[in-house]
Amino acid sequence: MSLTNLSDSGTDGHCILCSSTAWTLVVRAEDMEYSCKPGPFDLVACVRCGHVYKHPMPPAEEVPSLYPNTYYTVNKRSPLYLDGALYERKLVKDAAKLRKQTRGLNIRSIVDIGGGDIQRLIKVKEAFGRDVEAIAFDLQFEQEWIDKAQSHGVRVVVGNVETDIESLQDNGHDLIVMRQLLEHLRDPGVAVRNVFRKLRAGGVVIIDTPNRGGLDYWIWKKKFWGGYHIPRHFHLFTLHSLTQLMKDAGFHIYDQGYLPSLGFWVMSLRNQLGLNSAQRGKSIWEFLYFKNIPLSVGFILFDWIRIKLGFQSSNQFIIGQKRV
Ligand SMILES: [Zn+2]
Repeated sequence: MSLTNLSDSGTDGHCILCSSTAWTLVVRAEDMEYSCKPGPFDLVACVRCGHVYKHPMPPAEEVPSLYPNTYYTVNKRSPLYLDGALYERKLVKDAAKLRKQTRGLNIRSIVDIGGGDIQRLIKVKEAFGRDVEAIAFDLQFEQEWIDKAQSHGVRVVVGNVETDIESLQDNGHDLIVMRQLLEHLRDPGVAVRNVFRKLRAGGVVIIDTPNRGGLDYWIWKKKFWGGYHIPRHFHLFTLHSLTQLMKDAGFHIYDQGYLPSLGFWVMSLRNQLGLNSAQRGKSIWEFLYFKNIPLSVGFILFDWIRIKLGFQSSNQFIIGQKRV
């Protein structure tokens, strides 16, 4: 695609929330983090409702090429890679919080969709009690994860939440977890409708996804905001638009709110400073990475205080319930 073909508005889009085709440009940028392929790539806003989405939407078969083997979830050299005792503590804390958020519900079967290395689901299973059914659902599983799953009584199921979810039972599960996944999907509307079908009456889904509204968003929204994650985030919600998506799928809103957004503070700063996410280089700014504990704790505390004061952060959660 040559630069001369790129325009700042058009009528060939598709808004998943209101079906309008008219759009205006929000941000146009290269893949600053991994240089997975030449850009530029566009995120656009629906002219009618403001929903932000990738345009053009890549075909399904192109999506895997956006995740190189340097991607932070699978690359130990990435400044965003998380493991070790601190990461484990975070997973334990998140699982305890989830248990608290779903107190009073009868949880017998849990599905974690897109949970990656299943460590998260193991901690959730431990928090909810060992006799609860735990299913990891993802596009693929490395043998190491399958072995780990077996030794922790976790079942692995291969599928795709948008196109191939039938290996999960209809009306079969009480808690479905989808953290930092919705924004990576081509059609989050289809995904939440599929999830609705798989829940038992009374069951809930918890979704975390970026929110266009934190202080970091306002500082870097012209180009460098980490939440854009160009070209891998296909849909960016606000609390309002996420609520609408869930209600359209049939969900009752059980709970919602904001969460600290450490990742986007660090990624925005790194983008601004020209540091990539594939590996730590020699720049004096390379102290900006996840395992810098004072820095990470500082950003988390800062967002947490702002949330308590009634401000938004760039990370949100919603719990949708399938009513009896
Ligand atoms: Zn719209």
